[in-house]
Amino acid sequence: MSSYPEIGLFIGGKWVSPLGAARFTTRNPASGEVVGSFVAGTAKDVEAAVSAAAAAFPRWKATPPPMRGEILRRVAQVLKERKEPIARTVTQEMGKVIAEARGDVQEAIDFVEYMAGEGRRLFGETVPSELRSKFCLTVRQPKGVVACITPWNFPTAIPNWKIAAALICGNTVVFKPASNTAMCATEVVKAYDSAGLPAGVLNLVTGAGSAVGNALIDDPRVRAVSFTGGVETGRTVNVRGAQDLKAVHLELGGKNPMIVMDDANLPLALEGLLFGAFGTAGQRCTATSRLILHEKVYDEFLGMLDERLGRLKIGDPLDPSTDVGPVASADQEKKILEYIAIGRREATLRTGGHKLTGGNFDKGFFIAPTVFETAHGTRISKEEIFGPVLSVIKVPSYEEAVRVANDVEYGLSSAIYTRDVNRAFRAVDDLECGITYVNAPTIGAEVQLPFGGTKHTGTGGREAGSVAIEEFTEIKTVFVDFSDRLQKAQIDTAE
Ligand code: NAD
Repeated sequence: MSSYPEIGLFIGGKWVSPLGAARFTTRNPASGEVVGSFVAGTAKDVEAAVSAAAAAFPRWKATPPPMRGEILRRVAQVLKERKEPIARTVTQEMGKVIAEARGDVQEAIDFVEYMAGEGRRLFGETVPSELRSKFCLTVRQPKGVVACITPWNFPTAIPNWKIAAALICGNTVVFKPASNTAMCATEVVKAYDSAGLPAGVLNLVTGAGSAVGNALIDDPRVRAVSFTGGVETGRTVNVRGAQDLKAVHLELGGKNPMIVMDDANLPLALEGLLFGAFGTAGQRCTATSRLILHEKVYDEFLGMLDERLGRLKIGDPLDPSTDVGPVASADQEKKILEYIAIGRREATLRTGGHKLTGGNFDKGFFIAPTVFETAHGTRISKEEIFGPVLSVIKVPSYEEAVRVANDVEYGLSSAIYTRDVNRAFRAVDDLECGITYVNAPTIGAEVQLPFGGTKHTGTGGREAGSVAIEEFTEIKTVFVDFSDRLQKAQIDTAE
């Protein structure tokens, strides 16, 4: 018997372990300890999960949305009761510090509660007709079976953003999480099961993106794919989904800039920068990965940054006094160190730039918070690194700051620190991205507001906020003619 839990797939309301199934394990990125063992799902498992979801769909669709909302309210309650153990699982499996792990679970709770309320809205429109005695309206209908494919960096919040929104609209779900946070995904699914979600409405298939993801996208019964992850995977998913003309919603990467102007409150900007760039070890899609710094405050602000970086505590993410934990996996560590090597060739290293070793560091994937000074246009200044690596770019003016900020393929989040209200509102207009913060860091989503980006950050839709339901509903237009005669739009004229 192993000392860690062996988890099955969740299909049709039951935890199942297919006979002879291959397994994989997840590991604590701070200590190397195994967290759990999971089934490496196959196309056959996907077929079973989609069949269960398709079978559960008619009944779930017919369940009045306020009743679906009642179940979501119970899910939120279960998550609240289990918040601390789930947060610890997040830290142990993904590596973010415990305060941020609690935030991850809290975001899940907040969103599930928010979507529960949506069960009493799901608004359509009433629209006037051009003809007499004719009533026109729209209603929202579910799409059917939807696939939710998620990354590891918000292993409870992001799955819930998708699952709760999909369910309140009346869809049934097959959920495929990132493999290295499969235990977090298990906890999410258990919360829905404990809350009394009917069998088959939510199904979990763990396993490789290539096997499980492809089979899900190829299944004609899956009508929509909600995907969050990297831009290259997103492109593959989009092209594959297009073969069957599926609705594919993509939330992808970022290269988020923070502009600090010469009139900024520098101590405030510094606090924001530390949280934005090095929180979650820089592994947020909204992480501040570029500091665009006005030349008049350049030396002063970097001096302040050096001083604070020297005092950041890196280490055990379960220790509440730790500021920065490990990066999430060996793959992440490798990719970040490769970018650091690139940065050493093309830019000037100011701080960090290495893996931390010795003592407990040797058991995990710890990288020193790293700052490069660079010209705009280098690879580290334009490509998503997804780690604790900040590129600092000096600019002479607001106009140049905006040009640099916009000159990347991504458009997720952005921030400007300035005391000039006119300039702040100009930046809201000028920055090409989905989210702009004024005098706050690039991170800090709130569930009641839309979330998403422009350009290669996605396909343009938004998650969260009241618009979250757009992704998961079809609009049906309804005409009710109570004139008792044939009326012809565009041809008859109402007198
Ligand atoms: P990833 O693209 O490697 O994986 C995301 C998910 O896709 C995983 O579940 C993975 O198993 C699955 N997958 C892999 N290949 C697949 C395939 N061929 N078909 C279907 N699914 C497949 O991303 P990641 O490393 O888990 O996450 C990091 C990335 O996610 C970063 O680029 C980050 O910016 C992005 N992200 C974006 C947002 C956002 O809302 N915009 C939020 C969080 C993370």
